[in-house]
Amino acid sequence: MGRMDGKVAVITGAADGIGEATGRLFVQEGARVVAADIDDERGRSVVREWGGNALYLHTDVTQEAQVKAAIDLAVREFGRIDCLHNNAGGAGMFAPIQDIPVEAFDQTIALMLRAAFIGIKYAAPIMKAQGSGSIINTASVAGFRTGDSDHSYSVAKAGIIQLTRTAAMELGVCNVRVNCISPGFVVTGAFQKAAGMTREAYIQRLPQVKEHFASFQPLRRACLPEDIARAVLWLASDESAFVNGANLVVDGGMSNGKTWSQCLADMGRIGAVLLG
Ligand code: NAD
Repeated sequence: MGRMDGKVAVITGAADGIGEATGRLFVQEGARVVAADIDDERGRSVVREWGGNALYLHTDVTQEAQVKAAIDLAVREFGRIDCLHNNAGGAGMFAPIQDIPVEAFDQTIALMLRAAFIGIKYAAPIMKAQGSGSIINTASVAGFRTGDSDHSYSVAKAGIIQLTRTAAMELGVCNVRVNCISPGFVVTGAFQKAAGMTREAYIQRLPQVKEHFASFQPLRRACLPEDIARAVLWLASDESAFVNGANLVVDGGMSNGKTWSQCLADMGRIGAVLLG
């Protein structure tokens, strides 16, 4: 028996990375899935790979009508919506504040924060009428500490964490849960796109990327999309039935601070200053 048997999910940003891994796992666990993305070629191809009951829909999450259409498709084709994973995203502009055009800031907020609001706005009434539902927003450690991303991305992710809490407090009374997940650094195509690399070039550099990501983790390996997908599955399934308004941090412990070896090195340096 699958952990998502009978459930219907809409996943945004499902053509790649975390969303792709989540869609594959959901289908394996018995869910019917609408995969929403703007990368049509990859989106159609991953849905074919998943097999099972999955549909792809071109959905730009910055466009209200397209987000609504993805939710409507789930209800029309599969009869309900049990899970909405607001996950689509991309990097903001990495620059000093004075050099960021206001339009660039607005675009990041539209993609990384406003889109989740739109998704919740249209999924909530259907889930309330059903008397159940689980909404999962992809936030980030960048949403609660500095130094992990650019200004606009970090602010949008902070907003996602708070939107999760406020929505959870409204919808919980109808047994609709809203939670978010905060990954640290995950080996996905996001870094390939931010660096302007081809996928082929990125795949060649993957061993070095994984080694580097592992180097600043208390758990000495890089986080993979499947690590995040398993946590999203738990939040989507009935196993987390009493979890609401939570920010589930899945970062191998990274955001707690320095690793023990970094701590030892720093203490050694302080000792050297003290003792001459
Ligand atoms: P990814 O680039 O592998 O996947 C992102 C997906 O979103 C892609 O398929 C892309 O086509 C899609 N997308 C982009 N703009 C869209 C739009 N306007 N409408 C619909 N789809 C759109 O990246 P990922 O790392 O899997 O990122 C997924 C989420 O995880 C993002 O919200 C990201 O901020 C978050 N996240 C990633 C990391 C990381 O280290 N990779 C860490 C923390 C949080």
